[in-house]
Amino acid sequence: MLAIEALQPGLVKQFAAIIAADRLGQAYVFNGLSGTGKGALAQWIALRLFCQNVQAGHPCGECAECQRILSHNHPDVVVLATDARSLKVDDVRELKSELSKSGVEGQTRVFVIEQAEKMTPGAANSLLKFYEEPVSGAVIILTTTAKNQLLPTILSRAQIINFPTPPRAQIKAQLEADGVSARLAAVVAQLTADVADAQSLTADESFQERITRVLKLAEQLANRDATAFVAVQANLLPVAKALPEQTQLLALLALVYEDALNRHFQVAAPAAFAAEPVVAQLAAQSAAALSASLSAILQAQVQLRQNVTFQSDTEQLVLKLLAIA
Ligand SMILES: [Zn+2]
Repeated sequence: MLAIEALQPGLVKQFAAIIAADRLGQAYVFNGLSGTGKGALAQWIALRLFCQNVQAGHPCGECAECQRILSHNHPDVVVLATDARSLKVDDVRELKSELSKSGVEGQTRVFVIEQAEKMTPGAANSLLKFYEEPVSGAVIILTTTAKNQLLPTILSRAQIINFPTPPRAQIKAQLEADGVSARLAAVVAQLTADVADAQSLTADESFQERITRVLKLAEQLANRDATAFVAVQANLLPVAKALPEQTQLLALLALVYEDALNRHFQVAAPAAFAAEPVVAQLAAQSAAALSASLSAILQAQVQLRQNVTFQSDTEQLVLKLLAIA
């Protein structure tokens, strides 16, 4: 399965039906937050249109045509993307010359402009001709995180598709489709609802180290091991020098206790650490103890934002957690 089919199943289904009915429009604006799969859906549409082995409305991802699209080597699928701050007339020129090539009538062609809000007014204006005289068989897709920054003349001529922020279960499914382990995907999906953030976390080895150390601390706490206090300076501080990492450590610890509380009450909620033995061990504590622990962690999170140093904040937290019975 292609990752976008896990991430945005509703939109994929919608476009599968549109294409099956031969009703694909000529101009779309894909609007949504970063990481919601706008570019991936545009690519999926190209795959679906060119795949030689469509199965139940889905492109195979493996045939020669699919491979050419996936490796960005398909002559009839043109993607314009830039890391620069703006897309200028010159950038759009190549696309326009492709567009105006007098191909076979009705020849399928897909043009994608990513981050279209970067287009200068000149670049956007130079595209308008296509919107006024669409080329049969050609579809142009603009992706944007800010549709209101596009020219009204472009917006009014395109179908606007708003991309929903996917629920966590779908973020997890997408991460797994990208090759992330189920264990890591579960943690990341509980920590952030932003797909782009989630993807960068999975690639961050220091993040995985922080998970390991938080689980170790939780184990010491579950065992009422007083060395947990020393572990704050010895084990946590070295992997959490700046506020974002420190905030993340406390958030991870909160997830461990949330999972334990859910398991205690046998609630079937999505879990970050379902398979970790320490969660089962903590779940044996009383509901009152687990709730008190969670509110202590919450309080530590608030104090960290109020500029209490991470070390003293977390050491106090550990003392409280050890004392809760
Ligand atoms: Zn194929």
